[in-house]
Amino acid sequence: MDQPASPLEAVRARIAASARIAGREPQAVRLVAISKTHPAEVITPLLAAGQRVFGENRVQEAQDKWPALREAFPDVELHLVGQLQSNKAEDAVALFDCIHGLDRPSLVTALGKAMDKAGRRVPCFVQVNIGAEEQKGGCPIAEVPALLASAREAGIPVVGLMCVPPAGIEAAPFFALLAKLAADNGLAQLSMGMSEDFETAVLLGATHVRVGSALFGARG
Ligand SMILES: *Cc1c(COP(=O)(O)O)cnc(C)c1O
Repeated sequence: MDQPASPLEAVRARIAASARIAGREPQAVRLVAISKTHPAEVITPLLAAGQRVFGENRVQEAQDKWPALREAFPDVELHLVGQLQSNKAEDAVALFDCIHGLDRPSLVTALGKAMDKAGRRVPCFVQVNIGAEEQKGGCPIAEVPALLASAREAGIPVVGLMCVPPAGIEAAPFFALLAKLAADNGLAQLSMGMSEDFETAVLLGATHVRVGSALFGARG
């Protein structure tokens, strides 16, 4: 087999191989390139290589970096991953095409209002605290149905569930649990898997993998 020419090609090939093992189409998995902390000059080569879906975890950083990149590549799709403060909801709705961190009633209220005001419905993932970790963001498993109901009422299009499993232990059971929760709640999409475990996530049904360091190298 030929050596992949770039980390991007290598990650794409690994996603495709895992998808095939699971009997899934490789195109059913979206690669969200997590470019947080990386400057525009590191992102541009991926854009030039055809990557169009990117993720950032801070509204302010994305506002600084992406308007100029978007001028050059208007078909970019920008995702927000991680914690979102309610007072940044309007900025997030204006800038992002997908929000992965809907995790609490106050944010449902803020995002619902922001979407009404902007006349723009941004698809969201409900983030689940899948390992019931005290310090971690995410909706407790038991509260997912109620949060989904209130999001629906607020006019927020929830497309799936998202998780970041506990660090340092096997992620597969947590991915499987998230997949079951999504199926139980009639949700088709799963945002799960990062650089360390995206192949496992694809085997277990991920529709969005969020990959940073495997594409860009370690963050400083
Ligand atoms: C940073 C981040 C990622 C990417 O992590 P890597 O290990 O660098 O692939 C994925 N998801 C979220 C929510 C993140 O904050």
